[in-house]
Amino acid sequence: MSETTDQDEIELSYCRHCGGGRRHTIIAKKERYWSNDEAQVNGSDTWSILECRGCQNVTFAHTHYFSEDTTWGDEGPEPIVHRDLYPPSARPMPEWASELWLSLSRKAVWVAKLHGDIYAALGTGAFSLAAMGTRAIVDFVVTSKVGDGGSFTEKLATMRVKGLITEVQADILNAAFDAGSAAAHRGYSPEREDAYTLLGITETLLRRLYIDPMRQGRQAEAAAALKANDSRMGRSDIVGEHALEMAPRAEQIAEVILRRTDQSLADQAIVRVGLLCRQSMEPLSQG
Ligand SMILES: [Zn+2]
Repeated sequence: MSETTDQDEIELSYCRHCGGGRRHTIIAKKERYWSNDEAQVNGSDTWSILECRGCQNVTFAHTHYFSEDTTWGDEGPEPIVHRDLYPPSARPMPEWASELWLSLSRKAVWVAKLHGDIYAALGTGAFSLAAMGTRAIVDFVVTSKVGDGGSFTEKLATMRVKGLITEVQADILNAAFDAGSAAAHRGYSPEREDAYTLLGITETLLRRLYIDPMRQGRQAEAAAALKANDSRMGRSDIVGEHALEMAPRAEQIAEVILRRTDQSLADQAIVRVGLLCRQSMEPLSQG
């Protein structure tokens, strides 16, 4: 943790670690203005290394504009000032992301890897790739639940009949699948918001069909263990023992995640691992 002083140059910037606008100490800064008189265009690039004064997270920021890239302001067209933060990242992954690895069969763990890749794509603004990724996951989930026969719409109908999804959910999934197909085959370029919507739909599906059943299964096991042991020892000892049994498992999972997660997502992986350890230590508090 570095010391901050009153002499530090300060800049307000978004901190992805704190999740909001924060005062940052400018560690280093390089500005370069350029212009081309013949073409009558100009622009500037500013690169800076910033340290959040709240959480000490360090970010590399690239702030830039180009005179021809404009928006309509109060007094006519004015250049848009872009600000890119590195390393790129999307919103935090859901708290259950690390558990997804456990809920899938060995042959299907690519889904968890792809889930992570979608975040990497969103972080670099590759929204079409993110949309294609969500389509692949939705297709996998639906096919694995009802088999490979029939069109996607027919598979959704089967899922509805089986009580796995509601009619509204079927409509949403159909729209999400179609958007992903359009990105893959029909030149559709989703905006950031669209890509996040598709991801949200995909994650709701994963949570409902993989994470929730796995957690319920664990709770049922824990409840059965409580019942079995209740006649032999005091309740308070049982909870403690179960938590200790789970701890080495959490470590194993942490290793798998760190091995499988690329560098740009490493910080997220650490957060996920932290969450996982906590969840494992509190087996009776899972919602
Ligand atoms: Zn911060």
